[in-house]
Amino acid sequence: MLPFSRIAVVGLGLIGSSVVRAVREAMPTVHLTGYDADPDVRATALRLDLCDDIADTPGAAVIDADLVVLCVPVGAIGTVAGELGPDLPAEAIVTDVGSCKAEVARALALALPTHAIVPAHPVAGTERSGPEAGFATLFHGRWCILTPLEGTPEVATERVAEFWRRLGAEVERMDPDHHDRVLAITSHLPHLIAYTIVGTASDLEEVTQSEVIKYSAGGFRDFTRIAASDPTMWRDVFLTNREAVLEMLQRFSEDLSQLQRAIRWGKGDELFDLFTRTRAVRRSIVEQGQDDAREDFGRSH
Ligand code: NAP
Repeated sequence: MLPFSRIAVVGLGLIGSSVVRAVREAMPTVHLTGYDADPDVRATALRLDLCDDIADTPGAAVIDADLVVLCVPVGAIGTVAGELGPDLPAEAIVTDVGSCKAEVARALALALPTHAIVPAHPVAGTERSGPEAGFATLFHGRWCILTPLEGTPEVATERVAEFWRRLGAEVERMDPDHHDRVLAITSHLPHLIAYTIVGTASDLEEVTQSEVIKYSAGGFRDFTRIAASDPTMWRDVFLTNREAVLEMLQRFSEDLSQLQRAIRWGKGDELFDLFTRTRAVRRSIVEQGQDDAREDFGRSH
């Protein structure tokens, strides 16, 4: 039996449009309603025939839903939950896809105190955004982390877990604070570093912009992919997961200073040992199926 039969997806960008595409493929009998605050996105969703219905307000989208999936930037999740709350059926379950969980869980609990809430984070994405960027297989073989609230009924968490499994994801449960610390180092800090490197390179005066672009294959272009990620989404992530990001950034700065010293004093062994350890991390990621094993990310040359 399907875990849900009437699903409303609020926010039809990269993740929301991937969710609806994946639901269409995996659970074709489910009735799908979509909503996005941006009228252009709603028009595109209609043109692409992403859902059975596109609603004009968040309330109209959820009025007969048994699952609501909030796919908006983390800074907007509490607001949008408050807007749709009065029209939400009492037995509907609410989940989200936000990249930070502790603050989002608090905002959802405040906005919807009587509903079953199962915050979720599918650890899958690309640097693109908008309804045309989504695709049905985005969650295949990727982890989806659930951070149920203390009072969330087990049956609600299990139904949301089954929903994500049907979209191809592997499901794990985590404490929200722990999630935010893990993602601070595996996702948020790498994005911050990419934004910094690309920003620094574009500010350099003695190296021209055209040289930066021309010789980017030296490693720089891999950072530009991450640094091309959606500015609204990432602004919200850093402001929402502030504590964990600052803690990891402190640790990172100390390690960077140590590397600086190793280079200054010619400590080749120290550099070699670190680079050997980091190579092994890459091998483990490929072995666990979390990245393409082909060299240079499978680019054709
Ligand atoms: P996106 O492509 O920019 O889509 C977000 C959509 O939500 C946009 O169409 C946006 O409209 C709309 N929106 C903003 N505020 C809204 C509101 N109050 N009510 C209704 N719609 C609203 O972003 P995304 O990459 O799909 O990210 C969505 C969520 O997924 C975020 O919480 C993010 O943290 C999470 N996530 C992202 C990734 C990733 O790699 N991208 C991975 C995992 C999780 P506008 O056009 O007006 O902005």
